[in-house]
Amino acid sequence: MPQNIAIIGAGIIGLSTACKIQEDIPGCQVTIFYDECSPNTTGDISAGLVCPYLCGDDEEDQAIYVQQTLRHLRVLYNRQDAFEIGISKMSGFIIGGDTIKPNAFKEFPNFRTASEAECHCFLRDSKERPVYTLTTWICECTRYLPWLTKNIELKGGKFIKKHISSFEDLSDFGIIINCAGIGAKFLTSDKELYPVRGQVCAVEAPWIKHFYLFGKNYIIPRLTDVLVGGTNQYDNYNLEVDKEDSDKIWIKCCEFEPSLRYSKIKSQHVGLRPKRTSIRVELEQQKLSNRTVTILHNYGHGGAGVTMHWGCAIKASQLLQQHLNFLPKL
Ligand SMILES: Cc1cc2nc3c(=O)[nH]c(=O)nc-3n(C[C@H](O)[C@H](O)[C@H](O)COP(=O)(O)OP(=O)(O)OC[C@H]3O[C@@H](n4cnc5c(N)ncnc54)[C@H](O)[C@@H]3O)c2cc1C
Repeated sequence: MPQNIAIIGAGIIGLSTACKIQEDIPGCQVTIFYDECSPNTTGDISAGLVCPYLCGDDEEDQAIYVQQTLRHLRVLYNRQDAFEIGISKMSGFIIGGDTIKPNAFKEFPNFRTASEAECHCFLRDSKERPVYTLTTWICECTRYLPWLTKNIELKGGKFIKKHISSFEDLSDFGIIINCAGIGAKFLTSDKELYPVRGQVCAVEAPWIKHFYLFGKNYIIPRLTDVLVGGTNQYDNYNLEVDKEDSDKIWIKCCEFEPSLRYSKIKSQHVGLRPKRTSIRVELEQQKLSNRTVTILHNYGHGGAGVTMHWGCAIKASQLLQQHLNFLPKL
């Protein structure tokens, strides 16, 4: 019997989960419910740098999610239309990375401690150590999400702009997939989930060719701009651009990269990273309107939703397939 599946969320997690499930479960009917879609999701605000950052403690699972996402992006990068999809390759430096867990980076090409000569050449007077260098991917959601959307629609997926107040709203569906980002807090009352507010500024600075992460600040070149950030404010829901934050970000980043003072500011944005002790990719059964409905959760990716999205979509799809094999055949 064809599966009628509702997905809450049109961010990078909802769309990649929808795509993977359409790939793996032929004949399923996927309907995506959302408040906001691209270019207004958290991923659209993100730099899209594939790098484990501000994520939970589930190191073993994360290593698998990162590895599978890196493989997926490598395939996309080798396509002729990689630019349209928003995938590029980027090298750079993590400065003062004493909280870095080198194990999480073992799949990254060239991940290693930078030499003193490199530090001297790229980092001017910064004395912060250790410094790591690596090559990774950038996956820009403002391009990637419309591309995923098109693919989902081509396979018969439907999109409905509608706020979901509770899972009861979707009790007609046999399966509900919860990819609501920070919105999952209100659908599940999950006390482990909280926002980490991030504010960023996009500038025109085409001369910057490497990314730099230093403390809570970063400078990340993308296809057509450079993202300058940031803030990590725990349990803060403020979505307005804060002038004091803008000033602090600008001063710190210009101190690090003085040529930024010659760049042109394009826009400023704020997003809420859905942070949790561990990413929740998990099945549960709930009784809704006297029916037992399967709910598959995929949320809590913190500052690494882009970095882990495809691995999490694979895990979500595997859980669903295992579950469906156990259902009685009608
Ligand atoms: C400033 C900043 C920089 C970042 N940089 C990076 C980076 O470089 N690399 C990286 O890997 N990650 C980065 N991240 C983190 C990354 O953006 C997130 O982990 C990721 O976008 C989370 O995706 P999501 O789909 O779970 O959530 P979202 O993008 O927030 O999507 C949630 C979706 O659910 C919908 N929704 C929620 N509740 C409801 C409801 N009740 N009813 C209907 N729809 C609902 C929303 O409308 C939306 O469509 C950054 C984040 C920020 C804020």
